[in-house]
Amino acid sequence: MSTKLFIDGSWVPGSGETIPTFNPADGTEITKVSSASQAEVDQAVAAARQALGAAEWAGLLPVQRAAILFKIADLIEQHADELAELETLDQGQPLGVAQQVSVGGAANHFRYYAGWVTKIEGTVNPISFPDTLHYTRREPVGVNALITPWNFPLMILAWKLAPALATGNTVVIKPSEVTPLTSIKLVELCEKAGVPAGVVNLVTGGGDVGAMLSSHMDIDHVSYTGSTATGKKIAIASAESNLKRLTLELGGKAPSIITKDADIDAAVAGNLGGALLNSGQVCAAYTRFFVDSSVHDEFVEKMAAAMKSMKAGSGMDEQAQVTPLVSDRHAEHVMRIIESGRSEGAELVTGGHRLDRDGYFVEPTLFTGVGDDMTLAREEIFGPVLSVMSYDGDEGLDEVIARANDTEYGLAATVWTRDIATSQKIANGLRSGAVFVNMLPIPDMAAPWGGYKASGWGREMGKWALDCYTEVKAVWMHYG
Ligand code: NAD
Repeated sequence: MSTKLFIDGSWVPGSGETIPTFNPADGTEITKVSSASQAEVDQAVAAARQALGAAEWAGLLPVQRAAILFKIADLIEQHADELAELETLDQGQPLGVAQQVSVGGAANHFRYYAGWVTKIEGTVNPISFPDTLHYTRREPVGVNALITPWNFPLMILAWKLAPALATGNTVVIKPSEVTPLTSIKLVELCEKAGVPAGVVNLVTGGGDVGAMLSSHMDIDHVSYTGSTATGKKIAIASAESNLKRLTLELGGKAPSIITKDADIDAAVAGNLGGALLNSGQVCAAYTRFFVDSSVHDEFVEKMAAAMKSMKAGSGMDEQAQVTPLVSDRHAEHVMRIIESGRSEGAELVTGGHRLDRDGYFVEPTLFTGVGDDMTLAREEIFGPVLSVMSYDGDEGLDEVIARANDTEYGLAATVWTRDIATSQKIANGLRSGAVFVNMLPIPDMAAPWGGYKASGWGREMGKWALDCYTEVKAVWMHYG
């Protein structure tokens, strides 16, 4: 496969320094990937601008554009094994997750948005003005930069690229330098599917390349997924350049509320998956556990036992449940937060160490007695670390809802209960883009995804993503 940039339909070597990418399961270098310069970013943006209005793309009938998206979905499925293995090799996630969530999710997104292409409608509006036809058109927002993180690189790129193409836009993709490989492969498949030159461009490289895009004067919209710190930099860059539109999917610190009437065995199984899928490198991962004091000890005991029994291994090992963190740097970040838990007085129940093996493995770790103000409870960890706090449910639910909301983030949350009234009160009270009742935090292409507060701006997926990638034009036609 290529490790080059893709600009205006051609694969070209980047003139910046190449960046190595590593297999997180053993720390070996997989390959080196090109890095774009400012001149190459400018060329990619210019190609996207030119393609936006070109007959080969803008002139396609909706049914023809839909056919291209269906073709991309078919090609993803035809290359499913290769894509899944590449994702596991580069990112570290279990192969089963790569197959079902990453590759399956990407194909589903293209097929779902292929269906939308022929259904993007305007409105005719009852304005109070005589002899005037008033209607709206949905037009592409223009040239989009798609900047993605390292945790689910293929799937998150599909969340952006499928609706962008469905609505007739052109794009410049900038994947994470830590996990660029499946994004490069997806661009190859777009080329194979017949996407015209200039519609999809790829500039690999680090944060400096991302910054060139977010401050670019000829980009209309940045769709970004990644950390809140970088999201803020992108918002500043937008404001200081051309005030480009932004869709920001940022960090999370999801609370999990386990009530006194929860099915504890189901809560343990569900929260184990919700907290530890991909070793906790999930923006919606359950991380702050508020457990009713009457079931606290049972929950902690069963959760710790389940965590201790998990087998570590490479994502390629079908038996492995503890897979590596993406990089040595990230593993050290997780270890620093674990150390803060120890020094700030939380009680370590299980885990707490890096595994003594090659690669970037951290043990599944559980703390109890975590204070609401401890680093464990406030900072995004993005690793296999669970913080348990208790609350007194006999005093009502207002206190626990307030504590769960006491965070800068608001991406996802969960409640475990068998009482319908409790589930509704908590679901309605949480300031969070998604609330999962008695279930894992899964995304679906028909459901909105995005955050309250510092978890972001806007919603991806479903019909909501169409708003991110379209402008609404009002046409007034006086005929009197
Ligand atoms: P990151 O902020 O380090 O990097 C994300 C992307 O931004 C990368 O492509 C990077 O090169 C680029 N970048 C870095 N500096 C930039 C700059 N100044 N301007 C423009 N682009 C720049 O994030 P990450 O560590 O790759 O990803 C983990 C984070 O992503 C976590 O905070 C996680 O919660 C978040 N995330 C959110 C969602 C969601 O849907 N809300 C989904 C997945 C991950």
